[in-house]
Amino acid sequence: MSNVVSYTEAAQTVNAYARGLMPVDGRVCVPLHEAAGRVLAEPITADVDQPPFTRSTRDGFAGRAAELSSQEWLTVAGSTHAGELPPGALPVGSVWEIMTGAAVPEGADAVAMLEHVERESNRVRLTALRVLKSGENLVARGAQACAGEALLPAGARMETGQIALAAACGYGDVTVHTRPRVAILAPGDELVPVEATPRPGQIRNSNAPMLAALVEAGGGEALILPAAADTAEALDAALAEALKADLLLISGGVSAGKFDLVEPALERLRARFSFTGVRMQPGKPLVFGEVQRAMGSALPFFGLPGNPISSAVTFLLFGATVLGALAGLCNAGPRFAAAQLARETDRKAKPGLTRFLPAQCDFNPANGALPKVETIGWHGSGDLPSFGRANCFLVVPEETGSLEAGAIVRILLI
Ligand code: AMP
Ligand code: MG
Repeated sequence: MSNVVSYTEAAQTVNAYARGLMPVDGRVCVPLHEAAGRVLAEPITADVDQPPFTRSTRDGFAGRAAELSSQEWLTVAGSTHAGELPPGALPVGSVWEIMTGAAVPEGADAVAMLEHVERESNRVRLTALRVLKSGENLVARGAQACAGEALLPAGARMETGQIALAAACGYGDVTVHTRPRVAILAPGDELVPVEATPRPGQIRNSNAPMLAALVEAGGGEALILPAAADTAEALDAALAEALKADLLLISGGVSAGKFDLVEPALERLRARFSFTGVRMQPGKPLVFGEVQRAMGSALPFFGLPGNPISSAVTFLLFGATVLGALAGLCNAGPRFAAAQLARETDRKAKPGLTRFLPAQCDFNPANGALPKVETIGWHGSGDLPSFGRANCFLVVPEETGSLEAGAIVRILLI
């Protein structure tokens, strides 16, 4: 009962499935400085107005815009720097010396920049022809947020801006979702552990650490299962172990070969298959579905193709979406970006296949130009030396023949 779908159909199926998932049970409180990459289980709310007082954004003189714009000399009634509060309201006909970040006194509605005034002993005036608008160079109390307002929803991922915001709201620690446990099973008679020296005919199991890294980057906790041989018994035993996880990734054994025993093993667990192949390259043998567990929830699984580049790209496109949803992320999914193609590429059209070609993108080209991407010559999806030079995949949509140099293309970020 094979069910091969287009890339678009596969993405729709996985996205719809992910939308129906609940985050895994459990939440933990982590110190804010360790929260990077974690997903909020509770919203971050403002404890006070932001900013908490009307704040100057410049060094200069706080005053009434109308008075300052009249170019009249105004008395400097006092001075405050950041961290101080002005003692009272600003008297009419005067200004208040103020530093960046300091509280603006009551009555003032603008700040004249130091560079824009003339000073003469204890009075200042705006330089000729300058005018000041009400609200200039200050941020009014509560302009960014009001006390009690939710500023980040549950499901937001904590990155730079979110950590700074939580800190400003007084969160020394934050409540985040427990990370989903992702079992990684890499069966194959030819595979030996990374530390071992392969005998003729053997290769090292590179997918397990690669997938573990992708899982950790995607907000999960990787559980690498012991290597399994290409036998039904070994697979059954390994899968029994994997049933404890929240998501299962199996790499290899999903093609049509004689020792591709993963699908039959999943069938023995009465798995429901959403699709058993995708019209994409690499990654065609990808399998997705779920196993109903005796007690409770279903276990989603991906049977990723064994070739490392195929495994990586199918995880990034599909696996990361399900992982993100289980991690509680409100916007889980692959990350695409636009880049300019450096050289003409992909003359050999592959009708009906969406292609993801290992590529190198220069994200910092000279003269502020758009990121420039070019594909990396490769000997198929097992070519790790080529993959080692890649930092993204060039997306070649279905039915695209060649892409001209200079074309704006989509890339999948790794
Ligand atoms: P399979 O899907 O099992 O037929 O594997 C396809 C190709 O990927 C074969 O060349 C395998 O040797 C290779 N492969 C499978 N699993 C791994 C792995 N864990 N690490 C590195 N290469 C693998
Ligand atoms: Mg195999």
